Amino acid sequence: MGFFDIFSSKKSKKDTEASEEKPKKSFFSKISKVISGRDKVDEETLDELEETLIAADIGVDTTLKIIQNIEERVSRDKYVSSEDLTRLLKEEIVKIFSTKNIEAPLIPETNGKPYVILIVGVNGVGKTTTIGKLANFYIKQGKKVILGSGDTFRAAADNQLHIWAERTGADIVSHGMNTDPASVAYDAVKTAVEKNTDIVIIDTAGRLHNKVGLMNELSKIKKVIQKFIPEAPHDVMLVLDGSTGQNAFLQTEEFTRSTDVSCLTITKLDGTAKGGVIIGISDKFDIPIKFIGVGEGADDLLVFNSKDFVDSIFS
Ligand code: GDP
Ligand code: GDP
Ligand code: MG
Repeated sequence: MGFFDIFSSKKSKKDTEASEEKPKKSFFSKISKVISGRDKVDEETLDELEETLIAADIGVDTTLKIIQNIEERVSRDKYVSSEDLTRLLKEEIVKIFSTKNIEAPLIPETNGKPYVILIVGVNGVGKTTTIGKLANFYIKQGKKVILGSGDTFRAAADNQLHIWAERTGADIVSHGMNTDPASVAYDAVKTAVEKNTDIVIIDTAGRLHNKVGLMNELSKIKKVIQKFIPEAPHDVMLVLDGSTGQNAFLQTEEFTRSTDVSCLTITKLDGTAKGGVIIGISDKFDIPIKFIGVGEGADDLLVFNSKDFVDSIFS
């Protein structure tokens, strides 16, 4: 079963009334189309492959690197079949992931203290939804979770988080709209320490990555958390919308410049033919991808595994 098949089967189960759902044309299937049915790999094939990779939002630099490496190997081995090309491409993508995304425990040892995850990212990428899914994911593993409603800019964000808390059985700390997000973070971590909660997940407002004031707010949130747990936040998770292509690159650039992002979640990979952004971001930034979002439901979050990902591309 291919990567995107997982999503479509899940969709059809959930949405039984949608009788004829259009099959998702992922960039993976386009790559297979370019490669298959060729007797040999020539200049034209590689040109087409290059176009396809760029169209899939892998990014120009990463694409050129992949193509160049393949070209070198093709010229060395002279004759290359389409099966060989598939294998070469797979190896090149594996190479990109190999130094990052080293399998690490999702929740490392914290000496009995709560594990604190600060969620950052611009508006609309799926931060609050990802928090709901994360709560669901950890609670199903028997963990106790507290959500900190730190997006105090929009009433809707707080309501949304309350709904997720109720749905998943997570506790929530919320001070309402226009309150100080650092104060919410402080209370959330304090409560977690007092109640022996395993995990604290703190939502934040959709910071425009170029707004210095808002970035300072993130520093302030960190400072108050550290009053309880000096090594917290254990994760600063940047959430990116996988369907926005080059914007996701720019956001990663800006956020990593202004705050120490420790991991990524890439959302909305269910509705895009451009999931190649995963490969490009992994190539350009030294930040592991921890999860991917593949829908709006509580279970539509997958632990990112680079081997499975690459295997599924051509299966
Ligand atoms: P935030 O502004 O970053 O907190 O974003 P939200 O969590 O409010 O999400 C914005 C929209 O994206 C909502 O309609 C979500 O249901 C939707 N969304 C979030 N993650 C996913 C995903 O993985 N797949 C799909 N299809 N939609 C998503
Ligand atoms: P500010 O300069 O007053 O905004 O204070 P900080 O940057 O130190 O902390 C931000 C917010 O976190 C404060 O407004 C409080 O709500 C909360 N906070 C920080 N430190 C403490 C503390 O020691 N006690 C309590 N009760 N709240 C604190
Ligand atoms: Mg939100």
